[in-house]
Amino acid sequence: MSERTILDLTREELSDFLREHGAPRFRADQIWHGIYRELASSYDAITTLPKRLRALLQVELPFTVLVPVDVQESRDGRTRKVLFRLHDGETIEAVLMHYEKRHTICVSTQVGCAVGCAFCATGKAGFVRDLTAGEIAAQVLHFARELDERGEHITNVVYMGMGEPFLNYDAVMRSILILNDPAGVGLGARRFTVSTVGIVPGIERFAAEGLQVNLAISLHAADDELRNRLVPMNRRYPIAEIMRACRTYIANTNRRVTFEIALIAGVNDAPDHAVAMAKLLTGLLCHVNLIPLNSVPGIPFRPSPRDRVEEFAEILQAAGITTTVRLGRGIEIQAGCGQLRERSLVQ
Ligand code: SAH
Ligand code: SF4
Repeated sequence: MSERTILDLTREELSDFLREHGAPRFRADQIWHGIYRELASSYDAITTLPKRLRALLQVELPFTVLVPVDVQESRDGRTRKVLFRLHDGETIEAVLMHYEKRHTICVSTQVGCAVGCAFCATGKAGFVRDLTAGEIAAQVLHFARELDERGEHITNVVYMGMGEPFLNYDAVMRSILILNDPAGVGLGARRFTVSTVGIVPGIERFAAEGLQVNLAISLHAADDELRNRLVPMNRRYPIAEIMRACRTYIANTNRRVTFEIALIAGVNDAPDHAVAMAKLLTGLLCHVNLIPLNSVPGIPFRPSPRDRVEEFAEILQAAGITTTVRLGRGIEIQAGCGQLRERSLVQ
């Protein structure tokens, strides 16, 4: 268990900590404001704090260590992927994407991933450890500072980087609560999207939270046989169970579920696959994102050709399912989360 950092705490916990240490009540708000509004990256930057309190905080609640070590920018400048080094030398990626008026940050939730989807660079590298809530929040704060310098703000946070959010449930939810706090970053619940491979107990727990946070499911196939091959976790949580859990989420939140489908040439992109998908999703309050696979070195899958992707989209749309095709280069980088880290590991 790594030591607790300031970014792991909710505002209430920070208040409790300060009370226990005899500091006046208003200090919690001052520190919270300093970190999540002024975007201070050290206690020294919060100049209103007395020296003694600063020294205490530095020892008891240090800042989360997150050092940018590599950056990759898309040619159109709309996407910036950063590789961060953590306090123990492990590395993770996060991505900032600009799209129209939106500035979306894609965060990692684990170092590596244990699920091992057949097409995923992160899965290929295996699982190392969970991230803490502070390490997740720190990714967002890094980009918030970059944006702030240009007079811009984060508009959305998507949990679609490395790792499976629902296998690190508590840290993920805690990071959402921290970033949602109106006295700080104050991002509304609807600005967050958690993407899962389909961990059914996680979806059920998420559905019961009573929050308006968005849910995305990485579906990829409408039948268990094919999905078992792409997503080994499907053997444990098959499609029918995932759908049942999604219905609970929809009933509880009245929110649309997003289904992500990475289209792989000759594997899951035939018109028949689209018809089966349409049948599975008809009548569900949902949205489909089609993403041509991002090729990963050492993995033999290739992206679907553009006309296949469009045909797939047309079949879903004809069945009344709202469908978006994501073809932008920026999105390609995002979907390939795990690849910058992979590159750094082989160097
Ligand atoms: N573990 C979670 C969230 C991280 S993966 C999940 O699986 O949903 C984020 C998204 O990237 C998922 O939809 C995943 O299926 C997709 N993805 C992974 N590797 C990809 C690749 N090579 N090309 C396109 N999408 C990919
Ligand atoms: Fe893990 Fe998601 Fe990659 Fe599957 S797609 S291996 S669940 S990160």
